[in-house]
Amino acid sequence: MSEHSLISDPLSDEPVVPYEKLEAIFDDIKGHMLYDHELHGCLNCGICTATCPSASYYDYSPREIVQLLWTENLEGIYDAMQEKIWSCAQCYTCAARCPFENSPGGLVMIMREVAIKHEMESVKAVLRPFSRVLLKVISTGNQLAPNMITREAFPDWGPDVSKVEAPLAILRKAIPMPTMHTLDTAWVVNLKTSVELFSIWEATGVLDQLESVDENLFDVVLDVMDEKREEYEDWLEEQEDEDDE
Ligand code: SF4
Ligand code: SF4
Repeated sequence: MSEHSLISDPLSDEPVVPYEKLEAIFDDIKGHMLYDHELHGCLNCGICTATCPSASYYDYSPREIVQLLWTENLEGIYDAMQEKIWSCAQCYTCAARCPFENSPGGLVMIMREVAIKHEMESVKAVLRPFSRVLLKVISTGNQLAPNMITREAFPDWGPDVSKVEAPLAILRKAIPMPTMHTLDTAWVVNLKTSVELFSIWEATGVLDQLESVDENLFDVVLDVMDEKREEYEDWLEEQEDEDDE
């Protein structure tokens, strides 16, 4: 490969992507703590693509993604990170079928993390339409109520969607955190859990990633966080006052 890659980035002003940048991106993918766990080799057999629900709907093939990584095709990897990796529904049907016990879905998740870390313009373009969904998830804890999850509504989730078509009572018991089950909007996570989630997102760098992807959404989320933390402090004070009485 030449010192300078000839890849042009259609979503940024950069005319070419320097080879050093392609290398840095691949180093971050390969250096991810899960990489060796998700990729053991590849026969190029295509079983993953044959069973992948997203491959039926989009110009996307998990076999192609795994081959790009396995052959260390740096330009192809960068190219796939512009759009293709965002087509994966993360259903992990591929991981259950691969004779090498690879997880193409897991590899895609690593590539997404690295795309966010490198603040790729493609990330911003792909995620922008989902900002309302993100805000809903972040501010209420969940986007879906269990009765919204059906095979018909989520055809691209693959055959495993049938597993979540369980009775509502069982699904509600399966939720690990205390919630207020309001089916009108979705589940609303209780105040204490929300405040704990915000602290986890702060400590693990999720909020920093959000800031790099969507600054406006980040500002709105900060406002929501401040409001909920204040509410929680007030609630704690009220409890203390009641205990003192
Ligand atoms: S990742 Fe697994 S299933 Fe997919 S092409 Fe490679 S060996 Fe086959
Ligand atoms: S996780 Fe699902 S959607 Fe993603 S590559 Fe695997 S089978 Fe396809």
